[in-house]
Amino acid sequence: LPIVAIIGRPNVGKSMLVNRLASSQNAIVHDEPGITRDRTYQQAFWRDRDFLVVDTGGLIFDDDTEFLPSIREQAIAALQESQAAIFVVDGQAGPTPADEEIAQWIRQQSIPVLLAVNKCESPEQGIIQAAQFWELNLGEPYPISSIHGNGTGELLDELVNHLPPNAEIPEQPEINIAIVGRPNVGKSTLLNTITGESRAIVSPVSGTTRDAIDMRVERNGKIYRLIDTAGIRKKKNVEYGAEFFGINRAFKAIKRADVVLLVIDAVDGITEQDQKLANRIIEEGRAAVIIMNKWDAVEKDAYTIYEYETHVKDRFYFLEWAEVLFVSALTGKRVEKTLDAIDRAAGEHQRRVSTAVINEVLQEALAWHSPPATRQGKQGKIYYGTQVRIQPPTITLFVNDPKRFNDNYRRYIDRQFREALGFTGTPIRLLWRGKR
Ligand code: GDP
Repeated sequence: LPIVAIIGRPNVGKSMLVNRLASSQNAIVHDEPGITRDRTYQQAFWRDRDFLVVDTGGLIFDDDTEFLPSIREQAIAALQESQAAIFVVDGQAGPTPADEEIAQWIRQQSIPVLLAVNKCESPEQGIIQAAQFWELNLGEPYPISSIHGNGTGELLDELVNHLPPNAEIPEQPEINIAIVGRPNVGKSTLLNTITGESRAIVSPVSGTTRDAIDMRVERNGKIYRLIDTAGIRKKKNVEYGAEFFGINRAFKAIKRADVVLLVIDAVDGITEQDQKLANRIIEEGRAAVIIMNKWDAVEKDAYTIYEYETHVKDRFYFLEWAEVLFVSALTGKRVEKTLDAIDRAAGEHQRRVSTAVINEVLQEALAWHSPPATRQGKQGKIYYGTQVRIQPPTITLFVNDPKRFNDNYRRYIDRQFREALGFTGTPIRLLWRGKR
């Protein structure tokens, strides 16, 4: 992984920034020869990039007392192994001679170094505070607040431009689709209809496990990869008990999927096994489309569709974000709508929402309903939110203390985001992150 070094003089808030950027609370201490023990690396991500953040001690150049030379060596070594660095300064103190010395040293380095002006808690003030640092000749100063999180989004947006892309991103994006459901719900019939109707290139490709075969289908220039079609075609086997329906195989397919088609036999309705699959889809953060199959075989009157919709809402209340399609794989009726729904779900699964919009939603939600105080009289505060990931869309909320928000309130915030942002077809995740 690429490494990002955090440098700056003592007390400017470097470790606070590291904590803010780190994706887990666990520092990775490298134990390899050549890497000095007392540098700790923390895993971080932003958008689709993963990287490590390394905190360096406080840099001071004009003082050789005590342990300062060794800290300096550490910082220099950290910079040598880094792909980019963030130079942190104190916006409330303004530029100091020590900052100028570090800046001088940075200007001789070949890697990109971004200038973060910390302690800018107020956005209006922050712009003025940050502007003083143009004199360091290091390019644009970014006002941030490590405590509250503001400004860190813009800083990271710029930072990831300087990092190499993640290795596993494929050159030609395909939409990976898993078709899952109990035996006899019509999975292989649906598969045949999809591959037959698309009238395009259909080619088998080997999947990840030895007997898994994926199928590639092209439509309107888009490539769909149907995961483990061998597993879908495999008929329920007499040697397996009634409970067995290849759930592990389905779980594996879900794990590899972008979009899961959860196929239900409309005649039988939603069973406990279907709920198990639905739960797994959520745990894995996959997009989904619910396919009510065999709709041709259901006796219908004017109310049937409403009854079914209620049934789905009831049994799959935790999948309320998924589109529900009533199809007949056998006759092909409305099957073409399935690929359209997959496109929509895949699109929402990787949609990014700007930090400005997220905070508008948050402000609105807080204005309607502020967090109730805990029994101990402690007040929860949400400072700021930003989308940190796609697939599924993941929003980090910077708060004073996650323990001060009860489940009710969290659900309320979840709902506000869902209502305001849509994200039909995909789960969304909220991460509540506190100050430490
Ligand atoms: P799988 O085990 O989930 O792959 O299910 P299959 O595709 O093998 O289908 C099981 C049975 O249901 C077969 O007899 C199909 O012909 C039938 N079937 C599948 N889809 C439909 C449908 O849309 N309508 C009706 N009436 N029967 C269907």
